[in-house]
Amino acid sequence: MAIRRDMAVTIEAAEVTAALYRGRPCPPWLVRAVETALERVPALLDPVIVHRWVAVTAVSGEGAEVRAEGGRRRSLRIGPHARLLAGARRALVAAVSIGPRLDREAGRADRLEGYLLDCIGVMALGKVADAAAAVAETEARQRRWGVGPRISPGSLAGWPVEDVHVLCGLLPLAEAGLELSPRGVMHPLKSAVGLIGIGPGYGGSTVGSACHLCRHREDCWRRRQ
Ligand code: SF4
Repeated sequence: MAIRRDMAVTIEAAEVTAALYRGRPCPPWLVRAVETALERVPALLDPVIVHRWVAVTAVSGEGAEVRAEGGRRRSLRIGPHARLLAGARRALVAAVSIGPRLDREAGRADRLEGYLLDCIGVMALGKVADAAAAVAETEARQRRWGVGPRISPGSLAGWPVEDVHVLCGLLPLAEAGLELSPRGVMHPLKSAVGLIGIGPGYGGSTVGSACHLCRHREDCWRRRQ
């Protein structure tokens, strides 16, 4: 179990405009607005990762079982894409967050700046998630294993959002400054929890995206595939 707060989260204006405009030219006034918003961002981020390794003890049908060291088995109702864990012997359960301050500032800012801060916050959360993925990649490399994609309840099609309780229950959320409401909403709001399998059954060395299997993909401006 580990809590990390030492990530450098760097976002360039070109990344933001490319994500928002999806390759189309971005008007200069918006580029300037993005640059202005970005100047404020470093002081508004409190990135944190809290993670734990679990053994993947079974994957069958639409479910998987995991067990933390010294703990009891937990069942995950992953759904029709449970095979994404079929190659895993271990999995990294990780919650990531950028803290509450950026969202507070976005709520106080004017409409455009608030929107841009919100978008930049989503991208920043993605960078923190990438840092968590790097933990899984390093562990897999040391064991000469491969890594699977990052998957999350509520995003991966067919995996009920209620399973955030199972994943979060494996982590010391409060020590990391995070909370999960009884309805499964994480606080701060720009937080997420997911799972990355590693094992000899995977071929890749970098954590992939499951955007093509995500229930939000049609509306998501951050999707990768
Ligand atoms: S489509 Fe969007 S919400 Fe879904 S996994 Fe990809 S980035 Fe995340």
